[in-house]
Amino acid sequence: MSSRLGVQIGKVSIGAGAPVAVQSMTNTPTSDHALTLQQIYKLATLGTEIVRVSVPDDQSADSLFRIVEKSPVPVVADIHFRTDLAIKSLEAGVHKLRLNPGNIRLAEDVHRIAELAGSKGVPIRIGVNSGSVPGDLREKYSGVNEDSMWAAAERHIALLTETGFHNIVLSLKSSDPMLTVRVNRKASAECPYPLHLGVTEAGPRGTAEIRSAVAMGILLSEGIGDTIRVSISGSPEPEPLAGWEILSSLDLRHRFVRIVSCPTCARTRLDVEALALKVQQMVQGHRLPVTVAVMGCEVNGPGEARDADLAVIGTPTGFMLWKNGKSLGAVPEDKLETRLMEELNNIERRR
Ligand code: SF4
Repeated sequence: MSSRLGVQIGKVSIGAGAPVAVQSMTNTPTSDHALTLQQIYKLATLGTEIVRVSVPDDQSADSLFRIVEKSPVPVVADIHFRTDLAIKSLEAGVHKLRLNPGNIRLAEDVHRIAELAGSKGVPIRIGVNSGSVPGDLREKYSGVNEDSMWAAAERHIALLTETGFHNIVLSLKSSDPMLTVRVNRKASAECPYPLHLGVTEAGPRGTAEIRSAVAMGILLSEGIGDTIRVSISGSPEPEPLAGWEILSSLDLRHRFVRIVSCPTCARTRLDVEALALKVQQMVQGHRLPVTVAVMGCEVNGPGEARDADLAVIGTPTGFMLWKNGKSLGAVPEDKLETRLMEELNNIERRR
């Protein structure tokens, strides 16, 4: 829960006590509205609540009209350098702009964007990345650190607020998770605006999720952060899944099936990894906040099964299915997936 100022991004509220929202970003050419919408629909199914799209050229800005009209989640236009693309995106009806006011060269251009966004009730996210801190601030504060990044943010905030525009969201990102933590703690102490959290250039899968979870875990557990994005090199589809895993691990929000599976050892009596991955695939996008345990043997299996909504345990005589802490008996291997899915559907129907 956040005590930040409230900001409305289309149908999604952030800050002011609203739940932390999960964001993601498309990597299709925005100029191809059909392909981009296809990816947005997929990301929405996987739990993306706000989607960002890059707007690098006129064709992309033209395409935004159709994307905004059909998108199932609010759309954020990511703008660099060109005022005209920001104006066009606002005219297309985007629900938020993401700008680095430092690379819109003229203050009067930033003012023009702020005035139009203000008249449409569209918030602007100021994005400061460790790589975009201006030279004079790097010099003044002895390099890229939380002080120079915050000074850059303050400079950008002033450009907007001097026009009376306060519908602001801030993001301060670094590829260094602990710098991301320090600068967001500073931002949280210094300003009332909602904070979008992310570790930028976090790397490929595995690395990206760990770095993001470390930074976001620390910040969110301190009550800092209103939206999150786990940036991963390549397809954005794992991003919302990782975002939800972080929120669920912190007990902040539960929306999807949570898989618990044992690490396997010499006692293992079933292919835990294959089954856990299979179950994960089966339930992907299933909006059911329950726990499914996949356990390799009868030693620790029943213990986990008691705490899970549904569990499958390997035993010397085959697979046992458990539901709400009670054994449903043995299940033949070839019926396991069907039975698991049946039971999940039963749970869903009763909720
Ligand atoms: S549940 Fe059984 S198989 Fe899995 S790690 Fe524990 S002891 Fe080993």
